[in-house]
Amino acid sequence: MSEENPTADRVPEGDAGLFDAVVNLAKRRGFIFPSAEIYGGIRSTYDYGPLGALMLRNVRDAWWRTMVRHRDDVVPIEAAIITNPKVWEASGHLETFVDPLVDCRSCHERWRADQIEGTCPNCGSADLTEARPFNLMFKTFVGPLDDESAVAYLRPETAQGMFVNFLNVMTTMRRKPPFGIAQLGKGFRNEITPGNFVFRTREFEMMELEFFVPPADADRWFAYWCEERLAWFVGLGIPEHRLRFRQHAQEDLSHYSKATTDIEYLFPWGWGELEGIANRTDFDLKAHSALSGVRLEYFDQVTGERYTPHVIEPSAGATRAMMAFLLAAYDEDEIGGERRTVLRLHPRLAPFQAAVLPLSRKEPLAALAHQVLHRCQDALMCDYDDTQSIGRRYRRQDEIGTPFCVTIDFDSLTDEAVTIRERDSTGQTRVPIAHVVTELQDRIGS
Ligand code: ATP
Repeated sequence: MSEENPTADRVPEGDAGLFDAVVNLAKRRGFIFPSAEIYGGIRSTYDYGPLGALMLRNVRDAWWRTMVRHRDDVVPIEAAIITNPKVWEASGHLETFVDPLVDCRSCHERWRADQIEGTCPNCGSADLTEARPFNLMFKTFVGPLDDESAVAYLRPETAQGMFVNFLNVMTTMRRKPPFGIAQLGKGFRNEITPGNFVFRTREFEMMELEFFVPPADADRWFAYWCEERLAWFVGLGIPEHRLRFRQHAQEDLSHYSKATTDIEYLFPWGWGELEGIANRTDFDLKAHSALSGVRLEYFDQVTGERYTPHVIEPSAGATRAMMAFLLAAYDEDEIGGERRTVLRLHPRLAPFQAAVLPLSRKEPLAALAHQVLHRCQDALMCDYDDTQSIGRRYRRQDEIGTPFCVTIDFDSLTDEAVTIRERDSTGQTRVPIAHVVTELQDRIGS
């Protein structure tokens, strides 16, 4: 895979084994490929293969389920990726969404000054240029003219879509703070040093909530969202001891933030951000009100109350979260004296929730197995595998995290039952075909 910085993917020894094992598994089993690999890839850009596409969708769905479906105070939107430049002028991104860039005069590598300690991580030279601001937004031109009047930007965050649509959403959905607008979608940042596989890429997927609250309640909601978001990762199987909160120091806060707490995960190379929870105050709504001339306020017609809500923002990366879920799930153990690789993914995150495995690929077993498959497919994402020995098929499913295998044997033809085999314990239970779907749903917890 091509990386601009040869050192960017270096991880401390000890944990390097885990990192390599997950990256290799991701490639070998069709989770994540280098993008356009037949042309040698393109710098730190990845394509999600069949299993990666399924798992990434599950990460999104898990977020959607908690942040939208299970709440009566959050509504979703999908805003455009190519955005009117005024949005980025008002938000401050044109001026301040910058990282400090330094060049090494010796080997000509480029680095983010705040990520290195005075010397070039590639060649060790201390002969670095002065840091200069580098804007991370991808610039493009809309329409056939590539002059300044046609300039637009790919969004570096989805959040601004929620702010510019604040009034539209509040009025059409008849909302009153506290309420939130959620959005899932791609974000683009021209990162100086992408790397560590999909941890930092230039194109990535974000999961963001902008939660609008009465100003006096902002601190309480900030604390609430920090706890909720930590619980989300724990509930999906990340061990608590590999997670921590990190509060940003006052001098490190983004231009819009009054307080920011990151949820960090202990990656193989050290602690890294999974999600940032920010108190954005009324910064964005006020900035857009000022530039657009449209008052972005809450107004209560009965009481005459009028104010600009404050905003609490939990902002997470779906692709980065997927990487953490894969790292946390990776395990190797021994079953019956044989080594196996197993992804102990939460059942809702696994690419397949079940694999249907007939002991023979011949009729009449194949027809019965397909009947079972079709039953399960209505409710669950299923794989179907009728090749090689059953033991090897179990191993293949373990390696990609499939929590349940449904085995159809010759007895199934007469007793109308199948065996459900569980990934972690390898325990087996006989279940009537008529109950397979509800049994699996119960165990997955839909
Ligand atoms: P950093 O300081 O590491 O560049 P940030 O603080 O700018 O990151 P946020 O703006 O808080 O990041 O982004 C919100 C979330 O989006 C992050 O917690 C992360 O999960 C995800 N994210 C941000 N940048 C990237 C990227 N380049 N690749 C993948 N995910 C990213």
